Amino acid sequence: MLTLSGLQELRIREALHLHLRPNPISHSFPRHSSSFSPSNPRKNRSCVYRRLCIRSLGGSAIQPYDFKTQRNELLKKSVKLKIAIVGFGSFVLFLAKTLIRQGHTVLAYSQSKYTVNSSMLVALGVSFYSDPHDLCEEQPEVVLLCTSIISLESILKSLPLQRLKRSTLFVDVLSVKEMPKKLFLQILPPEFDILCTHPIFGPESGRSGWAGLPLVYEKVRIGNEDSRINRCNAFLKIFSQEGCRMVEMSCAEHDRYSAGTQLITHIIGRTLGKIDDLDWTPMNTKGYETLLNLRDNTCADNFELLYGLFIYNKNALEQLQRLDMAFQSVKKQLYGHLHNELRKQLFENPETNEDTVDDLPVLPPN
Ligand code: NAP
Repeated sequence: MLTLSGLQELRIREALHLHLRPNPISHSFPRHSSSFSPSNPRKNRSCVYRRLCIRSLGGSAIQPYDFKTQRNELLKKSVKLKIAIVGFGSFVLFLAKTLIRQGHTVLAYSQSKYTVNSSMLVALGVSFYSDPHDLCEEQPEVVLLCTSIISLESILKSLPLQRLKRSTLFVDVLSVKEMPKKLFLQILPPEFDILCTHPIFGPESGRSGWAGLPLVYEKVRIGNEDSRINRCNAFLKIFSQEGCRMVEMSCAEHDRYSAGTQLITHIIGRTLGKIDDLDWTPMNTKGYETLLNLRDNTCADNFELLYGLFIYNKNALEQLQRLDMAFQSVKKQLYGHLHNELRKQLFENPETNEDTVDDLPVLPPN
């Protein structure tokens, strides 16, 4: 251990304070870890200090603490998984980059043969399979379903499950959760483990990292053996290590929230996309620009995503009706005010000439 001068010690304390304050949404210092206490910052600081070991790096040079270095050290020590991805669309290309960087072995199977450019896969270090038998014979520890919502059932049923190891872990990333959970429980043999997840981010929002972005998950069926518990935790660690906010909730709860967040967002965005001349103007407000961005982002997604969110979330229809009623209510409120104005002009001001009345908007039928 080094002997530090007062100044050196002060600098280290400053560095610790600046770079190491535990962030409750960052899973570099997990919220659920026994060493993290939201109510006791003093305890957190001391637990962070305890993790540090200051060593001399040639002479008396003292290296400032480096968050990335510590994350890379953790990465080196973490369990490496062999992950077979089924369905290779744009979202997977985005996920695979992180899986590979973390040192996992990534195999990919796509029915449509090279949905993503093959050279891109090779450059990433992903092994590509066009036959599901070949993929399953590789005996991956994890099978990660990344199909579109509406194609999950047919793709899952087409997999030769008998070629996989007993107790393989099945995971999905679909944007609805009750449907894949139900299908997994129906179709997969009882020895297989099941983890349902939804990364609430994508290539756009996760472009510059996943820190603080939510990963919702439910451990639907994980065997009691340590190896199976550890494998599931190792998979979740892929996200917690990147700083994702880990949100454990049931699939039913996810779909209830999602109808009010994701579905509404997509429907409003798509609706704005139906208005022809909604465009950039020299006097955009911030709010208007937010709407234009929403329109552009949601309309860039495949329509099948919205369709899947709609038909495979049992809360969707009710949410759509509520949205429709809210829109009607605002319209009614506006027309109601207008109607009162019109009445005032017609009956309280007999001088109102016909031209003024003609200028007023026509009230729609109730
Ligand atoms: P995608 O490109 O629409 O589809 C992914 C794969 O699903 C395709 O490569 C294809 O598999 C299969 N597929 C799609 N349509 C099909 C059809 N009509 N018939 C048969 N197979 C079909 O989806 P994505 O944008 O990559 O998203 C994948 C999953 O991640 C979705 O379930 C989505 O809800 C979820 N997710 C997406 C985001 C995001 O930001 N994009 C965020 C969180 C979660 P093959 O390769 O075998 O042909």
